Amino acid sequence: MATDAALPFDPIASQAAPAPPNREPAFAHPAQEEEAARRLAAWRERRGRSKPNVLVVLMDDVGWGDFGCYGGGAAVGAPTPNIDRLARQGKLLTSCYSEPSCTPSRASLLTGRLPMRHGLQRPPMYGEAGGLEGERTLAELLSEAGYVTQAVGKWHLGENTASQPQNCGFDDFYGFLSVSDMYTEWRDPYFFPEMVYSEARTAWVENMPFNKCFVHAARGGEIEEVEEVTIPVLSTLDDRWATYSEEFIDSMAGRDEPWFLYHCTRGAHFDNYPHEQYLGSSPARHPYKDTIVELDAIVGRLVDRLDATGQLEDTLIFISSDNGPEMETWPDAAYTPFRCAKGSTWEGGVRVPGIWSWAGTIEPDEVTDGIFSFTDILPTVLSVAGSGDLVPDDRFVDGVDQSAFLLAPGGLSHRKYLYYWLGQMFSALRVGEYKFMLGSISDGNTDVATDGGFSGVSQKYPYGRVYNLYLDPKEQHSYLIRKLAYLEAFQHGLRDHIHSFAQYPPKASVGLNV
Ligand code: CA
Repeated sequence: MATDAALPFDPIASQAAPAPPNREPAFAHPAQEEEAARRLAAWRERRGRSKPNVLVVLMDDVGWGDFGCYGGGAAVGAPTPNIDRLARQGKLLTSCYSEPSCTPSRASLLTGRLPMRHGLQRPPMYGEAGGLEGERTLAELLSEAGYVTQAVGKWHLGENTASQPQNCGFDDFYGFLSVSDMYTEWRDPYFFPEMVYSEARTAWVENMPFNKCFVHAARGGEIEEVEEVTIPVLSTLDDRWATYSEEFIDSMAGRDEPWFLYHCTRGAHFDNYPHEQYLGSSPARHPYKDTIVELDAIVGRLVDRLDATGQLEDTLIFISSDNGPEMETWPDAAYTPFRCAKGSTWEGGVRVPGIWSWAGTIEPDEVTDGIFSFTDILPTVLSVAGSGDLVPDDRFVDGVDQSAFLLAPGGLSHRKYLYYWLGQMFSALRVGEYKFMLGSISDGNTDVATDGGFSGVSQKYPYGRVYNLYLDPKEQHSYLIRKLAYLEAFQHGLRDHIHSFAQYPPKASVGLNV
């Protein structure tokens, strides 16, 4: 729009720049893009390197409100001083969005695509077929850009050979292929007495086609089993995986190649069995909270190792969680101030902590509510690496380049619309502070913390609902009838998004027909 340049920027009133048919339109913010380019050039000059290292620490089922820097920490019985310090040294996002559960989120992070495009619409369980196979991943693209790529910890993007990390762009993998509870729930006599005390049922589970061990694999090779994940072994995994990542960071010190470390913790997915060193260590003295204390210590260990090996100023760090709290296992569960939980497209299901830090390059002490989607990570990281041309052009990529949002002081998000999908049901769209919801799971207004998640019913709203997330972050008061003027903005974003699937049809490798 010709008038945009003359008016102050506004996330609803301003138009996104035109984009190719296979890319999400994004706002242009020329001044901050120039500032980001200047900061990147200054870093290259100062450090004599061309591409920064990238450390992603992705936690499991940790809530928006768990960390002290998000209002949790000591207030909810689990101080997080290391994460809080890192947040003060960087940019804390208050509107960072995952997908409603583990696998869709992880696949979106690694592909830059929404679940309706990469096809992983829900987690595969107990050896189910389907996975990341056929997708182009951030690890694969960074490998092409000259990076050493390392995955550690939880994978959960398919157990079939072609979907395993060493076949999806990673040089090396040390972790487990599925999800925490699948290794332990059927071994725990408290949760599964009818299984544990039945030889027949135990044998039945043991014969299911999922790997019971945590594994190691090198690029293109076969997985090697490291150790069976019994409950005592599980309690040591986060510590052992952190040690593996520390050793990787050590091994890269002094080398010319940049690296990508994708460190996915076991914690704090149910059921939590804290490492003996952390048992009872939180003021809450609860296994979930003890695990948060350990995860915070692990962030401290990794950052300390970067510092000790002289790599901190060369490393872009992102700390997050793959979805909101799993409230159906409460109290082994995270904290969110938002409505509902993991499994849903209410804010509690998909709004997660997001901390970006890069010592000396990202401005410290910034908190921003700019919208950021997990799909943005792939184009953003490639842009910071100077390899934005590697974003795949043979498919639809939903992510937008947010590098200038992160790198420029006071940067604004480049994303206009956030799309919420619940499996194959289009659920909602956010623009600015408004969320337009056409359908969702669960609808109890009386108990916004524990309702729903995976247990709720799917429902559709014929006229739609509108929530103002600033006035009503718990999404309890639909504002539609007073805010009809915004319908044009909602319908514009919705129309373009839905139309994109006509040219780029959806995919369902692990489908969810909600
Ligand atoms: Ca998860």
